[in-house]
Amino acid sequence: MSKINQERKPLIVECEDCKQEFEIASDEVMHSATCKKEFNVNGQSIFLTYYDCPSCGRRHYVQIDDKASLNKSKEVSRQFAKLSAAKRKGKEIPQKQSVKFKKARQYLADYRMNLMKQYAGRLIHDNETNSDFVLRFSV
Ligand SMILES: [Zn+2]
Repeated sequence: MSKINQERKPLIVECEDCKQEFEIASDEVMHSATCKKEFNVNGQSIFLTYYDCPSCGRRHYVQIDDKASLNKSKEVSRQFAKLSAAKRKGKEIPQKQSVKFKKARQYLADYRMNLMKQYAGRLIHDNETNSDFVLRFSV
C-alpha cells in the first residue's frame, strides 16, 4: 500500500455516549466526512469541525479554526496537493519545498492547538437551535 493510500484510510472512532463505532475520513487536509460550522463568540468568528454519531446523534467537536487558520489551511492543502502530485509522478521533492510544507503544517497544528485551549469550556451560542452549549473537544 502506498503512503498516500494510507493517509486516506478511514478512521474508526467511537461515540463518547453510546460507544458505537463508525468511520470518518482521516485525510488530515480534507476532513470530507466532517462538517464545519461558523459560530460567533464575542464578535469573533470561529469555525468548528465536528461529526455526529450515526447511532445517537451525539456531536463531537474535533477541530477549531478562525479566519487566519482557514487561510493557512488552504495554503497547506495547496502545498500538499502539489507535493502529492509530484510524488505520484515519481518526481523528487526538493528538500526546501518539503521543509516549507512541514513547517507550515506544524504552524497550523500549533495555532489550532492554541485556539482549542483558548475556546475549550467556553459557552457557545448556536443560532440554528437558539441554545447555548459548553464547547468540549473530542480529541
Ligand atoms: Zn452515539
